[in-house]
Amino acid sequence: MKKDDCIFCKIANGEIPSNTLYEDESFRVILDVGPATKGHALILPREHFANLYELPEDWCQKAFLLAKRMAARMTERLGCDGFNLLQNNGEVAGQTVHHFHVHLIPRYKDDGQELEMKKSSPSQEELAKVREEICG
Ligand code: AMP
Ligand code: ZN
Repeated sequence: MKKDDCIFCKIANGEIPSNTLYEDESFRVILDVGPATKGHALILPREHFANLYELPEDWCQKAFLLAKRMAARMTERLGCDGFNLLQNNGEVAGQTVHHFHVHLIPRYKDDGQELEMKKSSPSQEELAKVREEICG
């Protein structure tokens, strides 16, 4: 289903123009208007799902397969040196548009972009506690 007040629903369904790289009956892939690097693109489902939690599993499979294919094609055409897939869920995780999307981010040697995480150094006990919380 589409959502009337959702900009990505409108873009995905062609009601608002975009720089489209690919489209099929389920998805549209567009260039991001605020690219982190040259070629930064977004995979948008044509139906409205707010985030990964709402995305049905069959859509998830198709989205990831499309991400792989787009990454291969963009790498070949753009000559990038690496690639990030990024997918934010919830404001705390950096999601600003609440229509599921996958970021396709070509990376270039010396592109100056910083997507790296700040890492921590938990003890073995702390890691085991987290594992128990998730799996126990
Ligand atoms: P996120 O922060 O993961 O929700 O990502 C939203 C992304 O959408 C950002 O990278 C924005 O630059 C991009 N964006 C927002 N509006 C548009 C638009 N009208 N067309 C293309 N990209 C957009
Ligand atoms: Zn939407």
